[in-house]
Amino acid sequence: MDEVHVETILYLAGSRYRTEYDCHRYELLRRKWNMYEKYADAFHWLESQKENMITTLKNFVQTPSCGREPEDVISFSEMFLEFLEKEGFSCRYIPVGNENGGTISAIYGEEREGKPILFSGHYDTALYRQITDKENPWKREKGKLYGSGVLDMKGGIVIAIYCARALKQIGWDKRPLKMIWSGDEEVNHKGSNGGEIFHREALGCECAFHMETGFPEKELCIGRKGGVRCKIQVEGIDAHAGKDFEKGRNAIVEMAYKILEIKNLTNMDRGTTLNVGTIQGGTIFNSVPAHCEIIVDMRFTSNQELADTKEKLEAILKKTYVEGTTTHWEYIDSMPVFETTPEGLKLFRFLQKTAENAGLPVPESIYSGGSSDAAATAMAGVPTVCACGTIGEWNHTTKEYIWEDSLVERAKFFTAAILDIFQ
Ligand SMILES: [Zn+2]
Repeated sequence: MDEVHVETILYLAGSRYRTEYDCHRYELLRRKWNMYEKYADAFHWLESQKENMITTLKNFVQTPSCGREPEDVISFSEMFLEFLEKEGFSCRYIPVGNENGGTISAIYGEEREGKPILFSGHYDTALYRQITDKENPWKREKGKLYGSGVLDMKGGIVIAIYCARALKQIGWDKRPLKMIWSGDEEVNHKGSNGGEIFHREALGCECAFHMETGFPEKELCIGRKGGVRCKIQVEGIDAHAGKDFEKGRNAIVEMAYKILEIKNLTNMDRGTTLNVGTIQGGTIFNSVPAHCEIIVDMRFTSNQELADTKEKLEAILKKTYVEGTTTHWEYIDSMPVFETTPEGLKLFRFLQKTAENAGLPVPESIYSGGSSDAAATAMAGVPTVCACGTIGEWNHTTKEYIWEDSLVERAKFFTAAILDIFQ
């Protein structure tokens, strides 16, 4: 930047030997300088905030919010709601049942005209407090930050908060800023309507930055598989394996036929996979088993394929191979596909351009097999990119960490993007 500035000043000082090439070069330099100027105030402020960002993240990480521990996740939501209100957001807490953390929908600058810019994600974490307290407590070491949720995804929440603060700091007021934070994403909104609420709250936004777990190579995610988990139970008739063999109806054998058919629904060309992940059945070896149970993990790349495969699966489940057995099933959780859309791709390319303009690392795109609520914002017709959060590794394990510099870098990135959208 300095070099550009010096050259510009030299130019302005005047040269008697100015050529057409010089004029062209000057024009390019002048434009570049103006571009940097646009981001400079926000960037300088964000750079001064690194330690504050780390302190905010530390407080969030040290307030546990495992999605499987209702007391913790709900008390985190109360603290978080208060935090956002102090930031000047008007907040709503939308309950999703007694067992799960509710959805927080917050808006800043509601009176401003135009569609809001959306930051979204979740505040619940994956691992039980007992495990992470002992095996991955908050720690700062050699440029890395450790702790439950630093990466997935309290770091992403902190980035969103500081983007909002930076924009406030420089007096930017072109659009409302909206935030949607789910409290039960890590349990796939099990038993709740958290997914539908997310979708509803996202309707009408200009674009969404989903602040999920960043990838180690800093790619942005433009699509994710959706997943459905199905629990299947077969009931047969138990009987002595010697004396009453013919009176028995073997539930394991019935399930075995079904498993082979289920396996055949996998279609790697379409990215459709069905994994029979667990099986339980029988009591003792010399008794015909009356019960067998499996859980199938199914993943898809399009919501149409998801619907079609569910139909094929149900046709298999309705068929009986061992007469006298019955089969029941239930979908225990479900996350829709984050489909790659032309609008989402356009947003991704726009972000690449912003990174280039702002002198930040230019991200590649990535497609992921794991699901997220980015599916809900994309299905609401909002151009969405995911994995906008902090950069690190090992989420959902006790090795979870982030690179501390990624907090400021990503806050600069998305602040610059918003400045670019409305220049
Ligand atoms: Zn996550």
